[in-house]
Formats: sequence, structure tokens, C-alpha cells
Amino acid sequence: MEEMMMRRPEEECGIFGVFNHPEASNLTYLGLYALQHRGQESCGIVSSDGNNLHSHKSMGLVADVFGNQEIFKSLPGKAAIGHVRYSTTGSSVIKNVQPIMVDYSRGSIAVAHNGNIVNAQIIKDELEAYGSIFQTTMDTEIIVHLLATSKAISLQDRLTDALSRIQGAYCLLFLTETRMVAVRDPNGFRPLCLGRLGGSYVVASESCALDLIDAEFIREIAPGEMIVVDKNGMSSFFPFKKVDPTPCIFEFVYFARPDSHIFGKNVYQVRKEQGRQLAREHRVDADIVIPIPDSGVPAALGYAEESGIPFELGLIRNHYVGRTFIEPQQAIRHFGVKIKLNPVREVLKDKRVVVIDDSIVRGTTSRKIVKMIRNAGAREVHVRISSPPTSYPCYYGIDTPNRKELISSSHSLDEIRRYITADSLGYLSEEGLMSSVGAENAGFCTACFTGGYPVKFPRLLDQDEPQMGLFEKEIEK
Ligand code: AMP
Repeated sequence: MEEMMMRRPEEECGIFGVFNHPEASNLTYLGLYALQHRGQESCGIVSSDGNNLHSHKSMGLVADVFGNQEIFKSLPGKAAIGHVRYSTTGSSVIKNVQPIMVDYSRGSIAVAHNGNIVNAQIIKDELEAYGSIFQTTMDTEIIVHLLATSKAISLQDRLTDALSRIQGAYCLLFLTETRMVAVRDPNGFRPLCLGRLGGSYVVASESCALDLIDAEFIREIAPGEMIVVDKNGMSSFFPFKKVDPTPCIFEFVYFARPDSHIFGKNVYQVRKEQGRQLAREHRVDADIVIPIPDSGVPAALGYAEESGIPFELGLIRNHYVGRTFIEPQQAIRHFGVKIKLNPVREVLKDKRVVVIDDSIVRGTTSRKIVKMIRNAGAREVHVRISSPPTSYPCYYGIDTPNRKELISSSHSLDEIRRYITADSLGYLSEEGLMSSVGAENAGFCTACFTGGYPVKFPRLLDQDEPQMGLFEKEIEK
């Protein structure tokens, strides 16, 4: 079957761009460095010198790919866009590294994409029927083809034409010889913000990237907004049909960096509030509260504060290992939990421990960590999760496994507790999560918890049916 439909959404990415700065590619490198948590498999930068585009991209971390100062000589000009990407197995090849750069009848254009297009395969089939030849397996390439075939005259109209055909989640940065364009989809699934550095405009997936280069945060780019930056300055347009925005709640739960401001809030404060709320909902008598670092830290601080149980660091993280989940191969992932975390026996011995994490996906991490904490001498291990059970896959750009691999899609709370071998298990309720985020003012996409998908996709994948029995033989009786 067609690859684009079979694959999990894979655009768990970060984008960054700067226009009108003499050190554009260097700043883009720094911006990508701050966004490294959004994708660690590959990265790239395209710059414009006003007449031509220049590109450097490769598999690997930002510091490795751009570790040599000489590279910046091949990225001249006062404008640049960049991308960090994580992709799933099968598509982790160099031809899929972004930004994509093409020459077409109107000149050159580069594009960097964060999100996932849900009607990609349908459009691809149509384009291929009319003779288009695709060079990558990325849904992003569809946008380039639509752009090239649009009959509209101005770049802005051609982009509007092309993007009106696609559905799903997209934050996009385009660079031509003379312009940078940023677009956020009408639902506003992924974050995107606008900043200023002297006379330059900067666009980034998260505000932490603006902080690193000392750029001033101007505002978030609004859902459905297109921003065009050129030598005359910046202009803003709303060319798409308006819909009620549905920003992704999982950015708050896990994905964004705690020091970023997204969707009008600071991520750290939201996560800490999730922890406080979790303590109100799932109190337990215990001696210490510990986080699974780093993802559980702000929520564990909130839990400790609200419950009055002392906060300790019972697990120490080796920061020089990438995120375990983001390793492309299963074998490495299993190994990863051990190389990443080590218990502090002196903290855990004979203690009743509350351990906090942001989410359980397959249950692999929690199961290993509970065993690790017990082996270090803990008397009781109570797991508390600062979000509701993740029961449905994301189709809008967060990398989640098939539904059958999500343990909570087919198992009860007590079955999950027994699988992870905890003495007790408590998840934050949906209402609790919403009140932590302060969701009175905004609708959020909560599809990963509820299955309510705000943008419909053409068809479900076979493997998206929950599957009984997958975890059974390991569930402790
Ligand atoms: P699992 O071991 O499959 O249950 O994964 C749970 C762990 O993965 C938790 O520690 C989360 O912090 C982390 N996690 C959750 N969602 C994601 C994601 N989309 N990408 C990477 N890590 C994640």
C-alpha cells in the first residue's frame, strides 16, 4: 500500500527563520540548537543571498551537522530558514531532510514544515496522475508541487492556492531569493511565534529559540495567518476559511520546552499546575515525590508543593543521551531507558515513593523505571501521570505509535498498573488537564486522549484498531 498513508505522521519538527540579518545562517543555527528537542534525526539550513538559495543539510544533531565554522561560508546572505526533524523508521533517509529546496518556473523556493498533512496521499495520487514525479516520501513535497502547478501570479496567491488544498497540521516557512513567508494552519495545531532582532524579523516554533539569540518576542503567529517578510517589511494576511482553533494540548503536556511561551502561556507554569491538580485528584501517603527527568520535573514540583510531600531527585539522567523514544529502532529504545536513567539508592531506600511522569505511551518506560526504583530499595512505588491516558494516535504531527501499541487503548487502569508493576497508578483527569491549561478561553485538540479528531482524515489505518492481548503475558497477576 502507499507509503505515505501507511506511515505514522512523522513531522515532529522545529522550524526557524530570520530575514534581513548579516549573520542569518549563523542565527538560524543557534535557533535550531534551541529547538533540538523537537527533532534529533536530521537538520538543515537554506540561506538566500538575494539572487540564489544555498543549502546545507544532513542526518544528525544540529551541533554535529553545523559544527564546522566553514559551513557558514557556504550559506551566505541576509535571510535563512532551518529545520530540525525526527522521522520514523523507513523514511529516515537523507533525501527526506528539510528544508526542501527546488527550482521551478518562477525561481527557487525552499520550505520547512512542522506538522502533518492528513490528505497527503489523495493529493499525491492526483498529482502523479497528471505527471508529477516525487523525489521524497515527505508530505511536504506535495506543497511544492501544488505551488508549481498553481496558475496564480503572486507568490502569496500561489501559496494560498496550494495551501487551501491541504488539510491537517502545518507550520511552514518558505524562503525565496527575496522573501520569507511563514504560515500557520487555520486550526493552529502547532506553535509558531514572531520576533524581532534590531531590523530583522525572526520566526520560530517556540519562543525559547528567540531567547537564545536575544530577539524580542513580538507575538504568536495566529491560526490561519500568513506573514510575508521582504525588503519593505512585514505584512500579514488571513487567506483561509476561518475555523475554531484547536492547538495541540500535548505540546503543553510533553513536547514544548518548559521555558517557552506557546498558545499564550508559559509551558513550565502549566506543567507545574498539572502536578498540583494531580496531587488534588490522586493523593497518596508517601515519603518522597520524584520526577522521571526531564519530562516529569515541573509536574513533580507541583505535586510536591500541593501535597506537602518532599521533592527529591531519585533518578539521575545522563544528558548526553538523546530522548529514548526518539531512537529509530526498538532495540535501542529498550536499552535507552537504562543508559539514560540511574537511581540514587540513598534517596530511595526504604521509602514510599510517588513517581511522576507526563504520559504513558506503550508503558515501557514506566515498567522499567518502577522496577529500577524497587531494585534500589523503595518500599512502595506509586505512579502518577500528569495527563489523561493516551489512547489514540496523533495524526497532526506528534509521533505516537499505532493505536494497538498504546497500552491504554485496550487496558483498564488496574491492568496498566499491574503491567508497570506499581502499587498504585493515577492519571490526571481531562477536566484537571483543562483547568491547568486554563482552557476556558481556547478549544484544544485533545484527540490523543479523547479520540475527537478536529480535522477529519480520509481513512483510518488497519493497525489503528486497539488490540487485546498485546501486553497480557507481562501483566503481573
Ligand atoms: P512509553 O515508554 O512508550 O510508555 O513512553 C513514555 C515516555 O515517553 C514518557 O516518559 C514520555 O515523557 C515520553 N513521550 C511521550 N510521548 C512522546 C513523544 N511523542 N515523543 C517522545 N517521547 C514521548
